[in-house]
Amino acid sequence: MALLRCGLRARGLLSALRNNAACMSSIPQPITNPEIKYNKVFVNNEFIDSQSGKTFPTVNPSTGEVICQVAEGDKKDVDVAVKAAQEAFRLGSPWRRMDAAGRGYLLNRLADLIERDRAYITSLETLDNGKPYHVAYNADLRLVIQCYRYYAGWADKIEGKTVPVAGDFFAYTRREPVGVCGQIIPWNFPLLMQAWKLGPALACGNTVVMKVAEQTPLTALYIAHLAREAGFPPGVINIIPGYGPTAGGAIASHMDVDKLAFTGSTEVGHIVAQAAAQSNLKRVTLELGGKSPNIVMADANMEQAVEMSHFALYFNQGQCCCAGSRTFVEEKVYDEFVERSAARAKKRTVGDPFNASNEQGPQVDKEQADKIMSYIESGKDQGAKLVAGGNRAGEKGFYIEPTVFADVKDEMKIAQEEIFGPVQSIMKFKSMDELIERCHKTIYGLAAAVHTNDLEKALHVANTVRAGTVWVNCFDVFDAGMPFGGYKMSGTGRELGEYGLEAYSEVKSVSCHISDIKISIKLLDGKLELWIFLDKLQ
Ligand code: ADP
Repeated sequence: MALLRCGLRARGLLSALRNNAACMSSIPQPITNPEIKYNKVFVNNEFIDSQSGKTFPTVNPSTGEVICQVAEGDKKDVDVAVKAAQEAFRLGSPWRRMDAAGRGYLLNRLADLIERDRAYITSLETLDNGKPYHVAYNADLRLVIQCYRYYAGWADKIEGKTVPVAGDFFAYTRREPVGVCGQIIPWNFPLLMQAWKLGPALACGNTVVMKVAEQTPLTALYIAHLAREAGFPPGVINIIPGYGPTAGGAIASHMDVDKLAFTGSTEVGHIVAQAAAQSNLKRVTLELGGKSPNIVMADANMEQAVEMSHFALYFNQGQCCCAGSRTFVEEKVYDEFVERSAARAKKRTVGDPFNASNEQGPQVDKEQADKIMSYIESGKDQGAKLVAGGNRAGEKGFYIEPTVFADVKDEMKIAQEEIFGPVQSIMKFKSMDELIERCHKTIYGLAAAVHTNDLEKALHVANTVRAGTVWVNCFDVFDAGMPFGGYKMSGTGRELGEYGLEAYSEVKSVSCHISDIKISIKLLDGKLELWIFLDKLQ
C-alpha cells in the first residue's frame, strides 16, 4: 500500500496525486503489455462463450488498435446468468447458509487478492481504459481495495431492531437481502464502479448479474476470476460483457431480477428506469450525469483554487460524472484566475498513460473524443473565449488537449450539457444570491465545491446548494464510508457508506403475538400453577 507507506491519509485524490512523486519509487513498474487472461462471459464461476458465439472487439484508446475479442453477451446470456444467480440465492444454498461473517471474510479475501495482483490489474485498466497507470494505481486501486474491505466489515453488522409496538406483541425488524441484483456499470472507473456495486450487494447476501461497459470489459472479468479464487460460491457473481441495449436492456427488463443498480448517462437512466417499471417494478438506484459547480470566492487562496479547479475538471481525462465542469469565479479575481488556469492547462502533460510523467491519457474511445470535439466547436460558435487547447493531441489514439473556455454564459451548451472530457468552462459571478440561483440552472445535482477562507460563505454554499456531495476547499474526496449520489436528474438513491446498504436489503417487520406465559410447577401431592405476565418494557 504505497500511499499508506508514505503516511498519506487521503485528504482527497489530489493530495494523493501531489505526493505521488514521493511515492513513485514504491509503485511497481507497469506491465505495458499485460496478458489477457479472461475475455468470456462469467457464469456459475466459469468462463464460457456467449450463447450466440458472437464476440466484439475491445480497443486500446492510446493507439486505436484492437486489444482482443471479447464474448458478446446478450439476452440469452442474461437469462442463463439470472438462473445461476437465482439458484445461488435459493434457500439452503451454500451462500444462503453461510454465516454473515463468512461473507465478510470472502470480501476481505477478495481485497487481499486484488492487493496481490495490484500492478497487473492496474496495467490492464490502463490498457483498456487509457487512464494513467500511476494515477490509477494510487487513486482507483486504493479506493477499490478500501471499498471491498469497508463492506466486508459491514457483512455481520447489518442488524434489525426490536420495536415497542402497542398490544401484546414482540415486534422486530430483519434486514434481508433483496435477491438477484442486476448491475450495469460504465467505463470511466471500471474497477471502482464494480467495487461500489459488488461490495454492498454481497455484504447484504444478494447475488449479482453485472453488465460491464463494452469499452472496458477486461478488468471486471479478472476480478471475477479473483472472486472465484477467494471462494465465492458458483452463481453468486456473474459478469456479462456486452452492449447496452441488448445485455443491459435484458437485465433492466428481466422479470426475475429483483433490483437494478445503474451508473451511466441520464439519457440511459430514463430507459432503464422505464424498463424496470414496465417489467416487474424492480427496485432501482441510479447514479447519473452531472454539471457540478466549482465555486471560487475572491478570498480563496488563489494558487490552491487554480490547482484544485484544474484537478476538479481534468482528473480522469475529464471523464467523471462529478467533474467540476462549471467553474464560477468571483468578479474581483476572475481575470487572474482565467490567466492562471489557462497557463496550468497548457502545462498539463498529455500522452502515453504508462509513462509516469504524463498526467493525462487518451479519452476512452473515438465516439467520446468526437463528441468532446463537437462541444469544443459549439463553445467557439456560441461565443465563449478559447484560452487554452481546443485540438486533438498526438498522432494516434484518442487524445485531446486540455482546453479552457473563459466568458462562458449559463445558457451555452458547454455550460448545460455533460461534456465528459478535458474542457474547463469558466464563468464570472458577482454576488452570492445570483450565484446559488445560477448553480441550480441545470437538470443536474450531483456535486458542488466551494473554495474560500470564509467559513460563513463555505457553510452557506454547502447548506443551500442542491447537490448530493459538497466539497469545501477540496475536490473528489472519496471514501467508502461517505455516501454518494445525486439530487434532481443526477439520480436516485445513494451508494457507499451505511446508506449504500439500504438499496441492497429489504426490511421485514415481524410481529409475534405473546400469550401470557404459564409456568407449571409440579408438586408431589398435586399441581401448583404460576403465572408470569410480560410487561411492555421489551
Ligand atoms: P456513457 O455515455 O458514459 O457511455 P451510458 O449510459 O451510455 O454511458 O452507458 C453506461 C452503461 O449503460 C454501459 O454499461 C452501457 O453499455 C449501458 N447501456 C447503454 N445503453 C443501455 C440501454 N439501452 N439499456 C441498458 N443499459 C445500457
